[in-house]
Amino acid sequence: MPSTQKKEKTEVEKEKSMILQKEMIGKLFKELSVANETGKKVVYTFVPGNLSELILAFDMLPVYPEINALQSGMRKKSGDYIREAEKFGHSEDVCTYVKCDIGMMLKGNIGPTGEKIPNPDLLLLSYTGCFTFMKWFESLEDLYPGVPVAMIHTPYQKDGKITEDMTQYMVKQLKEEVIPKMEKVSGIKFDETKLKGILENSAKAEDLIVKIFDTPKNVPSPIDAYFAGVYYIGPINIGFRGTSEAVEYYSELYKEILERVNKGLGPVTPEGELKDEQFRLVVEGPPNWTSFREFWKLFYDYGAVIVASSYTKVGGMYEMGFRHDSDRPLESLSEYCMTCYTNLNLPQRIDLLEKYITDYHADGFLVNSIKSCNSFSAGQLLMMRRLEEKLEIPVGFIESDLVDPRYFSYANIKNRLESFFQMLEQRKIILAQ
Ligand code: SF4
Repeated sequence: MPSTQKKEKTEVEKEKSMILQKEMIGKLFKELSVANETGKKVVYTFVPGNLSELILAFDMLPVYPEINALQSGMRKKSGDYIREAEKFGHSEDVCTYVKCDIGMMLKGNIGPTGEKIPNPDLLLLSYTGCFTFMKWFESLEDLYPGVPVAMIHTPYQKDGKITEDMTQYMVKQLKEEVIPKMEKVSGIKFDETKLKGILENSAKAEDLIVKIFDTPKNVPSPIDAYFAGVYYIGPINIGFRGTSEAVEYYSELYKEILERVNKGLGPVTPEGELKDEQFRLVVEGPPNWTSFREFWKLFYDYGAVIVASSYTKVGGMYEMGFRHDSDRPLESLSEYCMTCYTNLNLPQRIDLLEKYITDYHADGFLVNSIKSCNSFSAGQLLMMRRLEEKLEIPVGFIESDLVDPRYFSYANIKNRLESFFQMLEQRKIILAQ
């Protein structure tokens, strides 16, 4: 099938939101690089179930190992880091985010902006859905002996609901484990009024995020909710949730996207604007980072737009109605952790994907199965079959990895996608008859 997209100049014009985002991220890594001099304390933690607001309330700085790993993947550094971790004893089966992160630390812990990331003052293990988090932080404990660990255990949504007991179980951990350790490390007393102000900003940013990820319901979709979506969720996932900068960034981004909707424009991509939307897809699973641009282009070349994805919800499921709530500060922090995508059971995930396919008028459903991520990969074939039976839409399955370049096979993925797009094309013809 021929490409429907005309090649355009590869330069992407910088919009105000992109400039704001770059400034925010640059500022965070700058602050981290001078943390030893300024005395700011540093917390290593995870994106799903992150307690950004509490970290901000104690004037500490967050480090997200998964973000460093994916950034290393995009900058083609992850292969070396993974090899370093394998030499250190981590097996081939270990999640490559873990190996990339450990390898980066072993090689001097230089972050994505080229500045050194300081050692942690606190390891905040928010255990939300993925068992690897536990093993990952055990490794960090070995690498940074003596650094205190605060663990918060998030109960899994086994029955698909959150009970008051589950919330109170988490609130107790916040009060008895997390907050006392943060007070001790930071030397700052917990100030609930300050936390409430931060939570108000979180809710404002969450309202905007929901509106932004709602815009692909337009035809054509003004954004790609997967490939561009991962940039959009950056600030809210790396510690800016709760800041006024995040509210400003998402307000600006939403304004820019609405302008695209009003002009009937398609998504901005690294290849230029996608002008001829052919296929609307829902994708399950994280993207490949080591060949991110080539991967995106495979979709662009066929006029395929991702209108919704589960991966962009990994740091929070705000469209299901959850908001951080300044009237229930610790309760809402707890409920946030429990509503993360990685904490949902399989039927909940299938229902969610079905809703995306229906609400966003998707033509097909695609799984990108990640070799080293058991947390996402478990059950994906079942999800695919259920959705295929129920909605009678074409489904596709490709395999890659997060940051291990050895597991991105361009030719294989291209072949599978071509067959998938042919199926979608055939279905369009049949439906038009
Ligand atoms: S297995 Fe998947 S969810 Fe778990 S840490 Fe690795 S990438 Fe994240």
